[in-house]
Amino acid sequence: MSATIPVMIPKLGEEEAQAAADAVRSGWVAQGPRVAEFERSFSALVGAEHGVAVSSCTTALHLALIALGVGPGDEVIVPSLSFIATANAVRYVGATPIFADVDIETGNVTVATLDEVRTARTAAIIAVHQGGLPFDVRSLRQAATGWGIPLVEDAACAAGSTAYGAPVGAGSLLSAWSFHPRKVITTGEGGMITLDDADRAARLRRLREHGMNVSAADRHKSAQPILEAYLETGWNFRMTDIQAAVGLVQLGRLTGLVAQRRQLAARYQELLAGIDGLWAVRDPAYGESNFQSFWVLLSPEFGVTRDQVLTELAAAGVSARRGIMASHLEPAYQDVVPPAGLPNTERLTRDSLILPLHHALTEDDQDHIVGVLRKLAGSFRTVGSTAS
Ligand SMILES: *Cc1c(COP(=O)(O)O)cnc(C)c1O
Repeated sequence: MSATIPVMIPKLGEEEAQAAADAVRSGWVAQGPRVAEFERSFSALVGAEHGVAVSSCTTALHLALIALGVGPGDEVIVPSLSFIATANAVRYVGATPIFADVDIETGNVTVATLDEVRTARTAAIIAVHQGGLPFDVRSLRQAATGWGIPLVEDAACAAGSTAYGAPVGAGSLLSAWSFHPRKVITTGEGGMITLDDADRAARLRRLREHGMNVSAADRHKSAQPILEAYLETGWNFRMTDIQAAVGLVQLGRLTGLVAQRRQLAARYQELLAGIDGLWAVRDPAYGESNFQSFWVLLSPEFGVTRDQVLTELAAAGVSARRGIMASHLEPAYQDVVPPAGLPNTERLTRDSLILPLHHALTEDDQDHIVGVLRKLAGSFRTVGSTAS
């Protein structure tokens, strides 16, 4: 094995290059008709009425909190176990992030871990579909409604994941998505907010574009002069038509990419099943993951620490990654003391690692990766037909 096996590579082809070139040749490169089409197609695909394209999932989360009126003095419950953007969004609006623990198997917050840290000042919850693995949307949405606390869903990694037989965006108050190349489909950088409320969608469109009451694209199209008004202070969080053109091609690939990822994940699960002290992520009972991240959790019986495993994999030409980060352990959040212990978060971030999973990963690659893990494992027992 000569070349390094990357942890992820985006699937980009001539079609994306052509679509981007077409957008450039059209002369309309900022937010315009392709963004509008991408919004309609993506929101339909994830089961939402409206889509508001923005520059990233980070800006999507920021605007979602603005739209809910969250601000200084408010608390927002987030999992510490997430990419740091989830917690950062809370600080952008001047609110305080409150860290909740997660379930050890799914990596997701639960009704119990949220309830543990909920107070009278909780103004919103951001729950993450961790690495594409859906949280229990039915129980969390029900609990949030019962508490009277709006639930924002960080679906950055979850395009193509389902819960209770529907795409995870269906029935969500506000979901934030990412099109960073580390996710299953990409626009280079980019994000989207999906929702069912038309009035809130209209406000989000204004907020991403300086608070203007008419989009630059609509003003440009009009034969009559339109004088815009700035109804409130907004931002420039727009997506470009070049990005949306790429995104439209990527949308056509989503189903196939997810099917392939699920197949490769199933093969990992089979090959890894016989290794003591190693637990591989799997679908929850209520849904299907797109396996944007395929992680394994080590316990002491494995016999080797997570960091040693990462070093050995790197030496064998495998680019694995540490498990999902824990924000409360980062210097930027030193001043935020979790109100309750975060044992599962700390265990997952310390003892898990993310294995390569992407469209170009071959069975040989997988056998090589699993071979390294088997060699490292303190013991290995042969299990039925999965032995190879
Ligand atoms: C990637 C990611 C983000 C940030 O997405 P960007 O589009 O890069 O801003 C936010 N939350 C989670 C859970 C992520 O994985």
